[in-house]
Amino acid sequence: MVYDLIIAGSGPAGLTAAIYAKRAGLSFVVLEKESMSGGQVLNTYEVDNYPGLPGIGGFELGMKMREHADRLGVSFINIEVRHLDIEEEGRIKAIYTDGEVYRARSVIFAMGAKHRLLGIPGEKELTGMGVSYCATCDGAFYKDKTVAVIGGGDTAAGDAAFLSAMCKKVYLIHRRDRLRASKSYEKKLDKPNIEIVFDTVTDEILEKDGKVGGLRLRNVKTDEVCEIEVNGVFVAVGNVPATDFVRDILDLDENGYFMAGESTKTNVPGVFAAGDCRKKTLRQIVTAAADGAVAAHGVEEYLS
Ligand code: NAP
Repeated sequence: MVYDLIIAGSGPAGLTAAIYAKRAGLSFVVLEKESMSGGQVLNTYEVDNYPGLPGIGGFELGMKMREHADRLGVSFINIEVRHLDIEEEGRIKAIYTDGEVYRARSVIFAMGAKHRLLGIPGEKELTGMGVSYCATCDGAFYKDKTVAVIGGGDTAAGDAAFLSAMCKKVYLIHRRDRLRASKSYEKKLDKPNIEIVFDTVTDEILEKDGKVGGLRLRNVKTDEVCEIEVNGVFVAVGNVPATDFVRDILDLDENGYFMAGESTKTNVPGVFAAGDCRKKTLRQIVTAAADGAVAAHGVEEYLS
């Protein structure tokens, strides 16, 4: 079977594209890597800036978007995309997965991004043993314990605020002297059990009895080194796009983001990139959703 469209990814961009594509009467399927739709929004404790839904939980928002697509009868397949091939002089796009090959006349890549790793000693070895990339998933394991959050963006600030409600003490460790997080997120850090440690990088995650026991920190201005005891560390240093598998066909920027403008069109006609995996200035749920709508509209135009 050759579909009109394949959507790869089921975060806000992919789900919005699916809602628009269904309403446009296109034949398509959504391929999703995770067993649950929603993407990164599922791991966000609270979303303050999605219009009309102030303070909604990230998980709830992700579920609402999925329910919307379900209500329209969108088909989802839980499978990871591995490779893109262009066939019949560009008319057919073949998406290779671990099992099936799916063919369509157009594709929307909306795979978002994956967690950036710190790449320091102890990180890989202790992942799952005190190193986590998701405070809302793992925070409850650290009730009345001491944890550190590494990063200075909205995610790090949101995670630190979320963890402060259950942990004895939360260190927020940021490499610069100023947070990247927006003012509204910064305000949430004004809690007696949150200590912000500026100008500091983590050189090593230290092990104790097979689990995280502490961090070796270094002040980047003074070069002073110290160790702190923590039971867990939440890494929140941003994301990187998972686009390596199309590098030979589609144009990517130096950081791996799809080179697609506001039209979401890539360098291959009929292939679109929406959401956090696209080169853009503002990566938010609302801009991902907007991309999804624009991409679905672009597909309709392309197919006609
Ligand atoms: P981000 O904005 O890219 O911030 C990443 C942070 O990690 C920055 O402070 C950066 O430091 C730091 N960092 C990067 N690499 C590092 C390294 N190797 N070692 C130490 N620190 C490192 O990522 P994010 O906070 O995950 O946010 C991503 C996007 O999602 C943003 O657009 C954000 O606004 C959005 N978001 C929205 C919500 C919401 O609306 N509810 C919630 C969460 C996130 P520098 O500051 O020095 O670069």
